[in-house]
Amino acid sequence: MSEPRTCPACGGARGTEKVQHSYERDENGNTVARENRYWSQCNTCGGAGVVTG
Ligand SMILES: [Zn+2]
Repeated sequence: MSEPRTCPACGGARGTEKVQHSYERDENGNTVARENRYWSQCNTCGGAGVVTG
């Protein structure tokens, strides 16, 4: 018997938002920090937010 329960890895959030930092140069030669946010799907539940068993 297996009932769906909240995924222990992501707590039901289905994934986590991650931030990647990179640096670029603008037209004046100044270094500009950029933040690239992206969604990383939970591997444990496959993005479902719940696991069974
Ligand atoms: Zn999960």
